[in-house]
Amino acid sequence: NYILGIETSCDETAVAIVKNGKKIISNVVSSQIESHKRFGGVVPEIASRHHVEQMTFVLEEAFDQAKLTWDDIDAIAVTEGPGLVGALLVGVNTAKALAFAKQKPLVGVHHIAGHIYANRLDEEFQFPLLALIVSGGHTELVLMKEHGIYEVIGETRDDAAGEAYDKVARMLNLPYPGGPQIDRLAAIGQETISFPRAWLEVDSFDFSFSGLKSSVINKIHNAKQRGGELKEEDIAASFQASVVEVLTEKTWKAANKYNVKQVIVAGGVAANSGLRKALDKKFEDSNIPLLIPPLKLCTDNAAMIAAAGSIAFEAGKRSEWDLNANPSLTLR
Ligand code: ATP
Ligand code: MG
Ligand code: FE
Repeated sequence: NYILGIETSCDETAVAIVKNGKKIISNVVSSQIESHKRFGGVVPEIASRHHVEQMTFVLEEAFDQAKLTWDDIDAIAVTEGPGLVGALLVGVNTAKALAFAKQKPLVGVHHIAGHIYANRLDEEFQFPLLALIVSGGHTELVLMKEHGIYEVIGETRDDAAGEAYDKVARMLNLPYPGGPQIDRLAAIGQETISFPRAWLEVDSFDFSFSGLKSSVINKIHNAKQRGGELKEEDIAASFQASVVEVLTEKTWKAANKYNVKQVIVAGGVAANSGLRKALDKKFEDSNIPLLIPPLKLCTDNAAMIAAAGSIAFEAGKRSEWDLNANPSLTLR
């Protein structure tokens, strides 16, 4: 099947066409980062307006690149949540209008299911699999025993990993989005400060990053007050070391406990070079294959939505005309 995917949950307007949930035919992403940069984060109203302005161009480009027409499309998959409600609404209403006009089935997709299925554009899934989801809004360990069924075995109790990256970056006066900036600095810094690792209860696969964030912020404050020397690259390296160690160890422990056949990593923070390196090293000598999507498929895109939509479509899932944006949709 050929699935047209639409993604507008945050600050990228994206349309893609994917064949059989595995092969990218076209993948167009219009990022709004420049528009949000001067505000230090995503401004919801601006995001919605951008989506409206960009949608028709991005859609046309997706068809142009694919050299396909509407006749070739079997269904339309769209992110229904979670995300910014005004942003989601643009995608959902575009998808509904197109489905109605072109007489195509409509499939609502969970944004995080999309991040997970970005991995399947690379390699076929082996079940049971464990997914580590690390993005701007989520930090979760998800166990999957079959396609489309998600069991959350651990999640953050406060900040998401990407959120912590962005907040620490802001404290260091680095531009938005902060994750890649910290990543860049961490590569040239040293772990000179020993920040806390939030392991929580012994058997817990939950995460917590707010304590770490606070201690980084305190450290920066104190150094500023004393006029002392604190290299930003060392703060970045020390912060990243803490985040990466907890993510890697908990993923390793869960993978072994549940005897999984594959571990996949998803979401924007999967682009982090320190995390990629640490996970690669941890799983290298094990018999558990580790899958991390190429950088371009880690952050928001519509190919991943089409990939997840393809599986749902094959399973017979259809959305009705009352499909609505749901900013707090849960993964099930
Ligand atoms: P969600 O998917 O939870 O709704 P989102 O869509 O905003 O949130 P993504 O687009 O998946 O999140 O990822 C964006 C996040 O990834 C930002 O917090 C950004 O700082 C972070 N990020 C991107 N690249 C890197 C990197 N190299 N290192 C660390 N973090 C990164
Ligand atoms: Mg984004
Ligand atoms: Fe995302």
